[in-house]
Amino acid sequence: MATIFSRIVAGEIPCHKVAEDEEFFAFLDINPVAKGHTLVIPKQETDYIFDLEDPLLGRMMAFAKRVARAQEAVIPCKRVGVAVMGLEVPHAHIHLIPITKESDMYF
Ligand code: 5GP
Repeated sequence: MATIFSRIVAGEIPCHKVAEDEEFFAFLDINPVAKGHTLVIPKQETDYIFDLEDPLLGRMMAFAKRVARAQEAVIPCKRVGVAVMGLEVPHAHIHLIPITKESDMYF
C-alpha cells in the first residue's frame, strides 16, 4: 500500500506544495513546529533515508538546500534547521524548520 506521502504526491491527499521536480517533492508539515516547517521527500518510496542510494541521497540534499535557500529569502530566520526524524511516517523525509525569534528553538 502506498505511504501517506506517496498519496500526497499523487494528489490523493491535499497538501500545501512548496516545490517539486522529477524526483522530489516538498510540502508544508501538517503539524508545524515553526512557521514554514517543510518536509522534503523522494518520490521513490523508501522507508529509511539512509537506504537511498548515495547519488539519489545527494540530489535530495541539493534539492532540500534549494528549498531552504528559498525559505531564508522569505522568512526572517537565523537559519533553516535540518532534521531527520522518521518516527511516524515510513517514507524517507527531511524536515526543514526555519528558526525564528518566535520559535521555541531560537538560540
Ligand atoms: P516523522 O516521521 O519525521 O517523525 O514525522 C512525520 C511528519 O509528517 C510529522 O511532522 C507530521 O506532522 C507530518 N505529517 C504526517 N502526516 C501528514 C500529512 O498527511 N500531511 C502533512 N502535510 N504532513 C504530515
